[in-house]
Amino acid sequence: MFDNLLPRLKQVTAQIWYKDEECCLLCGQKSGKAICRVCKEKYFLPELRRCPTCGKIIGKSKTHCQDCLSGKGPQGLQGVTALGHYEGAWKEFIHRIKFKGQPYLLLALAAELTAWAVKSLPPPDAVIPVPMHPNRLAQRGFNQAEVLASLLSRYLGIPYCNVLDRVVDTVPQSTLGRQARLENLQGAFSLQPGAKVTWQTVWLVDDVTTTGATLAECAAILHRNGVEKVYGFCLGAGKEG
Ligand SMILES: [Zn+2]
Ligand SMILES: [Zn+2]
Repeated sequence: MFDNLLPRLKQVTAQIWYKDEECCLLCGQKSGKAICRVCKEKYFLPELRRCPTCGKIIGKSKTHCQDCLSGKGPQGLQGVTALGHYEGAWKEFIHRIKFKGQPYLLLALAAELTAWAVKSLPPPDAVIPVPMHPNRLAQRGFNQAEVLASLLSRYLGIPYCNVLDRVVDTVPQSTLGRQARLENLQGAFSLQPGAKVTWQTVWLVDDVTTTGATLAECAAILHRNGVEKVYGFCLGAGKEG
């Protein structure tokens, strides 16, 4: 009788407090966790590696993706990692954050995101978001990279330093091909006037990386201002093959 008592008590308490069983944020199935095991295996691909130079998800036997091996990877970053494969339900989730005004959903993934960042990258002196142009910020109301960077900062106790400006309102990178992406970003970022750069190692945070051009452009500014090591951290990256 007592064996059944505890689960029953939990059930009654949950009903009293109107607490529904937690559903997976990606597939909506009841899972008791923010992301269910099936979605984790499908989108976070724990069995695969990330290309250390650009963050792209690659086969376990590889050391780098083909782009980076042939010199087309982002320059000037000491490493890049992404939690998941930017496809399917993970891509839709990132779009909910960006385009449907739901950045608070990231809070449910705080444990997942911080654990991945700590496992994948060396400890930084500061967390820096990739900036958004004021025009787009006015439209959207928030910068998802700032939300993500401030979440990592808060949960890991690392200083949050918003020191970059996006000074050119570029067309979205996702609408362009590889060469056009590189040209689109030239001169798009700058250090904020009066910003003091005093760190050796930083995490540069963005929502998605594909060619790594945005991260590389921001990293170049940080390097020019004395930062030794810049590592990129993103929610999503492409997958090779
Ligand atoms: Zn799921
Ligand atoms: Zn690569």
